Amino acid sequence: MFNSLSDRLTSTFKNLRTRGRLSEADIDATVREIRRALLDADVAVSVVREFTAAVRERALGSEVSGALNPAQQVVKIVNEELVEILGGQTRALTFAKVPPTVIMLAGLQGAGKTTLAGKLALALKEQGHTPLLVAADLQRPNAVNQLAVVAERAGVPVFAPHPGNTSAVDDAIVDGDPVAVARDGVATARARQHDVVIVDTAGRLGIDELLMRQAADIRAAVQPDEVLFVIDAMIGQDAVNTAKAFADGVDFTGVVLSKLDGDARGGAALSVAKVTGRPIMFASTGEKLTDFEVFHPDRMASRILDMGDVLTLIEQAERAFDSEQAAKMAEKVATGQDFTLADFLVQMQQLKNMGSMKKMLGMLPGMGQMREALDSFDEREVDRIEAVIRSMTPAERDNPKIINGSRRARIARGSGTTTTAVNQLLERFEGAQKMMRQMSRGGGPNGMPALPG
Ligand code: GDP
Repeated sequence: MFNSLSDRLTSTFKNLRTRGRLSEADIDATVREIRRALLDADVAVSVVREFTAAVRERALGSEVSGALNPAQQVVKIVNEELVEILGGQTRALTFAKVPPTVIMLAGLQGAGKTTLAGKLALALKEQGHTPLLVAADLQRPNAVNQLAVVAERAGVPVFAPHPGNTSAVDDAIVDGDPVAVARDGVATARARQHDVVIVDTAGRLGIDELLMRQAADIRAAVQPDEVLFVIDAMIGQDAVNTAKAFADGVDFTGVVLSKLDGDARGGAALSVAKVTGRPIMFASTGEKLTDFEVFHPDRMASRILDMGDVLTLIEQAERAFDSEQAAKMAEKVATGQDFTLADFLVQMQQLKNMGSMKKMLGMLPGMGQMREALDSFDEREVDRIEAVIRSMTPAERDNPKIINGSRRARIARGSGTTTTAVNQLLERFEGAQKMMRQMSRGGGPNGMPALPG
């Protein structure tokens, strides 16, 4: 769904990732790229403006300049702001204290309401609820039939104007009173002790007065606990106007994005929560009844930014890394002092504080394709390196060049490793040291430790 937006944003960040400290010009260029990507994806102009202003302000502030890795911090900010426009917290359905809980569906014709009614009924049934579907869409000739079919597939009963006769819909039904049907449907649910009622209502191809009035009348008659506004994520910029019209005309408690499996630009869908101030609660992702998921703003943001679970990783790093130590390290590198084995040891320990290396590496995006390498990663490697460094004298840690052949053999014995392992570590360390020197000459230090192996 958000593939092209996702590609645009990730390539913007790729440009940033190669940099150390960020100038105001770097940040402005990034914000400009983000703005273009969002606008091209059909995100509403007002939302884009607010979003980019928030990102820019935060990116210029101390949270980025004081960060271990400024570029990553910018990504973190974009992610947080994206979660915010998507509604912040995950919002679950509210159930009535006294059943039945009444859920009303509203939206344009073709938005996916009837399909959603079946999906929601199935999901609720699987959670142990006993939903009843009510066919109050008497506008479209085949709507009652369609709901009956969906209900059967979900294995839940349906309340229709002519119970038992869902094979054909005649004029009498089309002319029926949807408000009365909705009211009777809820009364029936109460009598038959269904704990949830889902009321499907009519939609028009476009917004019109009559449709709004009817939906508002149904709302007044059945006093729903939730009114879910279903919107086709592929309708582009119209999404915002449609959502506003429904918010004014019927009002709703939550949004359902349907057809999220499509490949349209879909950014308009990203505007709906912000523009209406109502949370996105569910996503519909296909024609099957099981193509349905609870909408998590944070996970959707991660998906859009193609970041795996890097955020958890960054957060864990922030927690595990002692900022005083990191600052000392940065200072050391910036002033051209040598990065020593003692520093390396401190960094290894901080790395270990973050938990299992395998689990951490697995949180990186794209790691799915590197499963094999990940599986062969040996956690004990970190312990071995630590043991080798601990077997050296402080003078040796400061200046490994003084470690001769016999000392190498002695260190290997002391650490329970081999001379080859000691040699390898010293070689790798020399490489890391060279890299640190280059960094202190080139961009700023980023404080991240060199990974073993
Ligand atoms: P309603 O008029 O709002 O009740 O919309 P329907 O439930 O009848 O859906 C309209 C069309 O969209 C139907 O052909 C559905 O099969 C299709 N549809 C509904 N939801 C989805 C979805 O999430 N993904 C896809 N690809 N198609 C959907």
